[in-house]
Amino acid sequence: MVSLGSVDKVVRVGDLRFELHSQSRTFLFRAESTQERNDWVCCIEKILSDHKHSLEPRNLFFRTGSVNISLEGYMEMLSPRTKVYTLISKDKLFLFRTHEEYFQGVGITDIDMRMANVRDGENKRSFALTTPYRAFSFMVDSESEKQRWSEALNECVSRALSCDGLCESIWRVPSNRLCADCSSLMPEWASVNLCVLLCEKCAGAHRSLGQNVSKVRSLKLDKRVWTDDLIRVFLLLGNGKANQFWGANVPLSESLCSSAHSEQRLEHITAKYKDGKYRKYHTLCGQQEALNSALCSVVQSGDLLETLSVLNCGADINCNTGIPEFPTPLSLAKRSGQTVQAELLMQNLNSESFTPVDKDASIRSQSGYLFKTASSAKPITDHKTKADFSQRWCRLSDGMFSYFKSEQSHHKCGGMKTSEIICLSVNSPGKHGYEHTFELYSEEGRVYLFGSDDGSMVKNWIQAIAMAVLPPALFDVCGTCDRLGRLRCTEGNHGIGWFFLSGFKLQVLLEDNVQIIDLRKLLTLSDAGSMLLVWRGGPLHLLADRRPHFVGWQTFIQQRSGAGDQPLSQQQLTDLGVPVTIDRCLDHVTRYGLMSSGIYRKSGVNSHVTKMLERFQNDARSITLLELDYSVDDVANMLKRFLREVKGGVFNGQENNNSWLRAAGLEDKTEKINRYQILLSNLPDVNRETLKALIHHLVCVQHLSDENQMTIRNLGIVFGPTLFHADGTDVTGSQVVEELIENYCSIFNVSHILTFKRLLLFQSSPCEREYPVKELKLYHGCRSKMHPPTP
Ligand SMILES: [Zn+2]
Repeated sequence: MVSLGSVDKVVRVGDLRFELHSQSRTFLFRAESTQERNDWVCCIEKILSDHKHSLEPRNLFFRTGSVNISLEGYMEMLSPRTKVYTLISKDKLFLFRTHEEYFQGVGITDIDMRMANVRDGENKRSFALTTPYRAFSFMVDSESEKQRWSEALNECVSRALSCDGLCESIWRVPSNRLCADCSSLMPEWASVNLCVLLCEKCAGAHRSLGQNVSKVRSLKLDKRVWTDDLIRVFLLLGNGKANQFWGANVPLSESLCSSAHSEQRLEHITAKYKDGKYRKYHTLCGQQEALNSALCSVVQSGDLLETLSVLNCGADINCNTGIPEFPTPLSLAKRSGQTVQAELLMQNLNSESFTPVDKDASIRSQSGYLFKTASSAKPITDHKTKADFSQRWCRLSDGMFSYFKSEQSHHKCGGMKTSEIICLSVNSPGKHGYEHTFELYSEEGRVYLFGSDDGSMVKNWIQAIAMAVLPPALFDVCGTCDRLGRLRCTEGNHGIGWFFLSGFKLQVLLEDNVQIIDLRKLLTLSDAGSMLLVWRGGPLHLLADRRPHFVGWQTFIQQRSGAGDQPLSQQQLTDLGVPVTIDRCLDHVTRYGLMSSGIYRKSGVNSHVTKMLERFQNDARSITLLELDYSVDDVANMLKRFLREVKGGVFNGQENNNSWLRAAGLEDKTEKINRYQILLSNLPDVNRETLKALIHHLVCVQHLSDENQMTIRNLGIVFGPTLFHADGTDVTGSQVVEELIENYCSIFNVSHILTFKRLLLFQSSPCEREYPVKELKLYHGCRSKMHPPTP
């Protein structure tokens, strides 16, 4: 991390390289092509010249005076063990090697605390900071010092989460500093589908138009809504452009001022958005077909204003694009990589799902015979045989679920209001005497078990009950239902969150905002009493409840969050979808083992490897590999053993193994590469990402083969049998691995630039001092060299 404020000039060197000169050092970079080098140089020159012409003092990180440092000082970082000068400012933590380097404007890295989590370390003076990207462990001199740092860091996390930063970035666009309707200053609300920023009073008027017209969200309170893409919608469109559409023709007499009365405000806002009175009519207005096709083409471009315009002049957001693979405008936008367009469409799609639809009422009622056991106050853990069930006529209507002895019987045996059903849980088939069973949990803590051998009938019941119990925002959740209901949590309306579990996906409704959490990708899961789930959207606290349904949720979430003894796709995963175990090992070897002679070939200490693998299988995400605790050879061997033992292997089963081995026998090289690409695309996502991460890592290893002796051939010999679960007598597996390494870019469709940038990235990580000072040879012959400081 180099502050451009410290850089005096940028100098082109040769065809591909450039140097950054600061007072104290020179940094040499090499790009992939002259074009790319020139792009970098131009961009940096522009920033430097802006700096020169600006009257403000140059910003060497924080030396401008307008700084906001909460705490600074030296700490000891563990793994790699080194002293760092650390500084908390606003919502970030900055790491520098020394205090001098901080003044010189050269840093190691900064950590965005929005995603971070502060935890106690293993002893009284240490603490850990976990982020989605890596974990940092720090040690300070005393317990009180640790207290100070933990408090400051926790404050920093809440500051980051409170989205002060969000307002600041959105207000950077000048028109966003005024309410789109009444021009009040610094609007803190937004209509996320109409794409306008609003003051509190106008936001109130928007809310009364209903969710289907305007979806109002707060910049400060609704933290989770604000994805990067949504923020970009507001930076690209902003009030200025959005008003070119919505407010193109506001007569002076009808314009709104910030002191307007609420009636006046509502009248203006209704006319503006609901009736579209002041909007700029699209030239195609009234021609449905033409509007639809305009929508299909504009979503593939960057023109958000045009999309806003055609959408609000009558284009059908669900219109048929005529392309079978990409049937909707949304899928077209995604295909063309227009994620911001996709976000705009999604915000407008969702608004419909909040409208209650009458026809739902018919799905929400249901009647028929089901079999039922006696209700219980405890979770049902034992197997129930058919003899434990009795037949009941069940009816779901008018917000009541009731059951009777028979269809003719008028005397209810029991039942409950649907509002009292707090959980519905679907059992795996065959768990009890009847093939298909589900459990209902009532508010007062009783469990009811229902079942039938008729699978499709049970499915209809589950759907009907789901519709009757869940808030409308969760109606269009997809996937089969495994469990649904409400739980107490520290967020949400009155501390109530609604949950819908399908496979690994947990859909959560807090306030009126649905989030989807892939449980395999949780960063932390602790369930001592209450449950804490940390995912990339932040933490989610579920409060302990002594009632039986909470215990069930704990079990389900635990099970679905990835298990160490399962195939790759059911393991705990990183954000990129690579098993955590593999990711941690690759990261460790990349940091400490690239220069180690015979890495992956040398054996580790068997008992260490066994113990480590057990710990990972137990709960991979809780483990931080510290350099001191494990040698690189132990870690390398654990990785190999994991790959060798994981169910189905990386290639997903014996049959696929054979296809890869057969492909290796193809004579024609182009044909062979094509075949590998096809086999790769047929792999499940997790297997594909795993193979990609592993081969990328091996590419890095073999590029340092002068140091570590691991040539492509040696790596093939080691990893062939490991990946193909073979004994090593057949060399075809090794050949496949060699060819994957040799043709990494073409087989995995990776551009050189990406490889280059990734390598640069790890080089500038906090561990850069661990890398050899001598010139690093990087992939594809590109080289990047950090000169040691020139005094
Ligand atoms: Zn306003």
